[in-house]
Amino acid sequence: MTAISYTIVQDLGENRFLAKGNWPALNGDPLLEGKDSFVVLLLDKPAEVGATGRCTGLHVGMVALGFTAKFAPLEGKKLTLRREAFLQCTPVDESNAALQKFVESIQKGAELSVITSERIACKPCGGLGFTREAQKGKIEDKRMPCKDCEGTGKVPLVTETKFAP
Ligand SMILES: [Zn+2]
Repeated sequence: MTAISYTIVQDLGENRFLAKGNWPALNGDPLLEGKDSFVVLLLDKPAEVGATGRCTGLHVGMVALGFTAKFAPLEGKKLTLRREAFLQCTPVDESNAALQKFVESIQKGAELSVITSERIACKPCGGLGFTREAQKGKIEDKRMPCKDCEGTGKVPLVTETKFAP
């Protein structure tokens, strides 16, 4: 999660916005600091083009976006962008009163969920980043880069946990 200040550039519908944002680098995440960088925001309320704001956003990775630009100097151009995406979220204050309010809102039917993203060991290669293939007449196996994790040994796992009464 990070604090983002943004200016809405284009409304992409369904509370998704292309925005110019600034945010600090995240610890423990490969995300670099953003300075006037284009981002995709999922806000919990409608917003107007040109509006500025601040929100606490959960970084949900890179998304590919295809749309027709409605801003200068790209007006009318069909674009495909790969951009960092953030989901607006409301951190729960760690006090008994805030916790009580959170529990009560769920009991009243509020739809709340938490999305966590982690990198887990890739199953097909056992986290090694490569698979082995026996070679006839050779002692050493041939190492093939794992396609599932692109040789990194890890795959992202995104989990959404919904709270229910
Ligand atoms: Zn793998």
